[in-house]
Amino acid sequence: MWNPNYEPVIGLEVHAQLLTHSKAFCSCSTDFGAEPNSNVCPVCLGMPGVLPVLNKNHVEFIIRMGLATNCSIAPRSIFARKNYFYPDLPKGYQISQYEEPICSNGSIEIEFEDATTKTIGITRIHMEVDAGKSIHDQDADTLVDVNRCGVPLIEIVSEPDMRSPREASLYMAKIRQLVTYLGICDGNMEEGNLRCDANVSVRKKGETRLGTKTEVKNMNSFRFVEKALEYEINRQIDLLEHGERVVQETLLWDPDRSIVIPMRSKEEAHDYRYFPDPDLVPVLVHEEWIKDVMSSLPEDPTVRRNRFVAEYKVPKYDAEILTAEKPLADYFEGVTGQLKIRNEESFKLASNWTMGDVLRVVNAGKTAISDFPVSPVHLAEMIDLIIDGTISGKIAKEVFEEMLNTREAPRAVVERKGLVQVSDTGALEKIIDEVLAANGAQVESYLSGKTQVFGFLVGAAMKATKGKGNPKLVNELLRKKLEQREG
Ligand SMILES: [Zn+2]
Repeated sequence: MWNPNYEPVIGLEVHAQLLTHSKAFCSCSTDFGAEPNSNVCPVCLGMPGVLPVLNKNHVEFIIRMGLATNCSIAPRSIFARKNYFYPDLPKGYQISQYEEPICSNGSIEIEFEDATTKTIGITRIHMEVDAGKSIHDQDADTLVDVNRCGVPLIEIVSEPDMRSPREASLYMAKIRQLVTYLGICDGNMEEGNLRCDANVSVRKKGETRLGTKTEVKNMNSFRFVEKALEYEINRQIDLLEHGERVVQETLLWDPDRSIVIPMRSKEEAHDYRYFPDPDLVPVLVHEEWIKDVMSSLPEDPTVRRNRFVAEYKVPKYDAEILTAEKPLADYFEGVTGQLKIRNEESFKLASNWTMGDVLRVVNAGKTAISDFPVSPVHLAEMIDLIIDGTISGKIAKEVFEEMLNTREAPRAVVERKGLVQVSDTGALEKIIDEVLAANGAQVESYLSGKTQVFGFLVGAAMKATKGKGNPKLVNELLRKKLEQREG
């Protein structure tokens, strides 16, 4: 925490690398892991005389994000050149948007643990392209890989609406959820496909003027966003408390030492000498196109979460986990859509299996949810078997494991392995009689009032049925038999 007499003011700039197949202004592949400097051409290298041609998907993807964040979509926007020198930027400028960005005046809602919400304004979202990569750790010299030059990005600029590191990380998490739901970015922060820079300042509580801000970079996880901002807020307050002033600069978060280190003095927009790119025509977006994109948008994750609670009567906690990522939510609804027995109990089982056993296997990195060995159809069939009493919940675990290995249908597994639950009262009574006879001492102690022995006897009876006894029936019959002895 920080000195409560101060209030932090935080705005975030988030860069998302788009999942287009080709680059923003040429047909080079955006494929990762290609040989260094193999995905390049004269256009993305910025050779003289070449002309860039805009990738339509770049525009389509940013419109998706703009609509999902309640932005207005400009019918006409233009590209600008942002001039600066970097060894990994052969053109000497980055193609970006400055005046007239395509998306502006949006907002998203973040939600706190206590379910209260806050609206964070989005100033603008614009298109730009990535630079290459300088590699310092492979050789005595610096190596340059320009494969990433020209890979399409969008930059999402928030209003300075956040008042704590927690708000900033919730906002970042929401952005990540949105870009992955929309299928426009893989959301991988560790690999830098989703990057976040923060503008931070502090001011005395009650003050309306903004303090001098710094920019913090290199926070490649939600945890680092919170840690870095907390550190920077305290650093600034400390300076002011000692009568010193905050210097406007760009800082780098160092996760190993948990401190920020100065990177360079912060540049102003005029340092970049922005000017409209003379090689690129304005981007015109017609109303029809916006309507088309709007109709193809997936359901908003928060709306979907609330619908899961209303429609399937699952707890909010479940719905939150189920809708955190779109593929999992789709899987869950693949299951519920196939259930023959449709009630609160079967929906809850679908939720438990999806966020329990399915997610456990996915999180262990063994398989992707999109190619999960137990298909939603098979899981639904298995849940129907549990509810109609064919198999017990315990046996279902065994069936699930088998389905994981063989991709078989649950009914086939149950038949092949003879796992059908024993609900034949006569057969179960016979087994229970044997169990009671073999555990005379435990029966005695139960009858003398040590009722906790009941659990042991149930366990012994279930074991004697090789786990196939209907647990509810075994419980009932056992209790009846013991009551008879009491009488
Ligand atoms: Zn190229």
